[in-house]
Amino acid sequence: MLELVDIHKTYNNQPLLKGVSFAVNPGETVCLLGASGSGKSTLLRIIAGLEEPARGRVCWQGQDLASIPTHQRNFGLVFQDYALFPHLDVAANVAFGLRMQETAPAEIKKRVAELLETVGLSGYATRRVTDLSGGEQQRVALARALAPRPRLLMFDEPLGALDRVLKDELLNELRRLLHASGIPSIYVTHDQAEAFAIADRILLLHEGLIVQGGKADEVCAQPGSAWVAHFLELGNLLEGVIRGREGDGWVVGTQAGEFRLTCGHAHQDGENVHILLRREPVKLSANGQLHGRVVDVIFQQDGYKVTLENGLVFHLEESPRVGEWIDLALPPSGIQCLL
Ligand code: ADP
Ligand code: MG
Repeated sequence: MLELVDIHKTYNNQPLLKGVSFAVNPGETVCLLGASGSGKSTLLRIIAGLEEPARGRVCWQGQDLASIPTHQRNFGLVFQDYALFPHLDVAANVAFGLRMQETAPAEIKKRVAELLETVGLSGYATRRVTDLSGGEQQRVALARALAPRPRLLMFDEPLGALDRVLKDELLNELRRLLHASGIPSIYVTHDQAEAFAIADRILLLHEGLIVQGGKADEVCAQPGSAWVAHFLELGNLLEGVIRGREGDGWVVGTQAGEFRLTCGHAHQDGENVHILLRREPVKLSANGQLHGRVVDVIFQQDGYKVTLENGLVFHLEESPRVGEWIDLALPPSGIQCLL
């Protein structure tokens, strides 16, 4: 089991990682999600031993790895740009780690054939890697990472350069492969759809800290902050002010009108909060609580994405006209208070 304890890293007096702690359990795929520049690649380099933390520990089964060099950690890495050796053919690329381990040639041959089959590239052994498509190159990179039987796999935005359809296909295969092999892995991306598709558990990295972690559905249902809701694109976020109590709920004033909601917080009048209007289908309604003028309508497979003059975006089954004033009824369960 991998465990990170209180990892800190600073570049040019700018703190990047400010105390990152998490564990990866046996067989688990953990996805580290964060904006570009949040320090995801740096964290992977620290785990791999390519970079030293300013403070904190990287442990495997309780053993601190500080004195263990990269090549002895037995962690596999797959990068966005594949980082294949252009002068070597497919088989030699896959065999690279095995040669480093001084595995016997007959064993290497067997293992390479086995791996090429695993990643769907049987028959590609003698091809030049420079002649392969992006998706094929990434399969070679995956086979190369798997070859030395790593005890942990790390993926750094591995599908970033591929188109959506190919991405989905490779994600499905990768998930099956990781679960079948039981190799624990850390998958880094800034793309939430990719994270949801591959992760057993997601961790959100923001301003140097893991701000929330859990199963994707749990994190989406209970975002811990406005930033999490924003980053995961859970819906419209509004700045609000507590105006007072009403029954067992609160009245919150926003630029788009007043909302009534119940939440577990102990608010005070005048307190600033955020309101999340969850991305759920809403209906036109003569006496809905939200009133606005339509400035844009985009057809999507499951309805219409409607933008109002106040910047809010809703998903409707029917298409209003641009310029029209509409009233919307928001389901109370879709209105959430966030700090
Ligand atoms: P991410 O992978 O989340 O996009 P990175 O870990 O690549 O983030 O980098 C985060 C920031 O850390 C970068 O924007 C850069 O400013 C800084 N950084 C990363 N590596 C170095 C380095 N070797 N020297 C100086 N600054 C660095
Ligand atoms: Mg990166």
